[in-house]
Order: sequence, then C-alpha cells, then structure tokens
Amino acid sequence: MLRKVLSKVEEGRFSRALVGLQQGWQFEVRHRVFVQRGVDVSGYVKYAGKKYGVTIQPTGCFCSCEDALVRRVLCKHIAFVAMAELAYYAAERSAHRQPEEVRPT
Ligand SMILES: [Zn+2]
Repeated sequence: MLRKVLSKVEEGRFSRALVGLQQGWQFEVRHRVFVQRGVDVSGYVKYAGKKYGVTIQPTGCFCSCEDALVRRVLCKHIAFVAMAELAYYAAERSAHRQPEEVRPT
C-alpha cells in the first residue's frame, strides 16, 4: 500500500523526499494502526524549523502543506512518510521484530 502511494508521487516530489531522507528529516509518528488493507499512520514531518502534519490511510493521504491542500497532489512530505515507514518495517523485519502499532494516550 505504501509502495503504491509512492508510485503515484510525481518524480520531482519523489526526489525531494529522497533528499529529505538524506538530510535527516524526522518523522514523529503519533498514530500507527495496521488495518486490513494496509496501515493508518499519522504524525509530523519535521525539518529546518518546519512541521507538517501527515496522514496516510488506505482511503487517502493528507498533509498540512500548500502542495497537498491547495494543489491537491501527493506532496514530498507524504512521500517522505511512506519512505520512512517502509524503512522502519524493513529494519524491524531484518531484526526479526514486528513493527509496533502506536496509539496516542
Ligand atoms: Zn506536504
């Protein structure tokens, strides 16, 4: 599901998310629940004093940035969260652990 999201991100935005990964952008997860058709994940993408709220669900993706809100595209922040989540799952798998769900209290 996250790979499908990434496949729909336009090339330039995909590249900017990769640069973000390289530059140490942070994804602060606030909520992650595994659902039948994928994952329902949300949190904050933080870098250079900026902070954007991102949600990815099987039914759609949301971000608080202008690209997503005004232009209604899959922005670099959504792409970054998808990459960060996939990287996290891969790391957990290679350590023989299950990715953890996160439910804010
Ligand atoms: Zn965004």
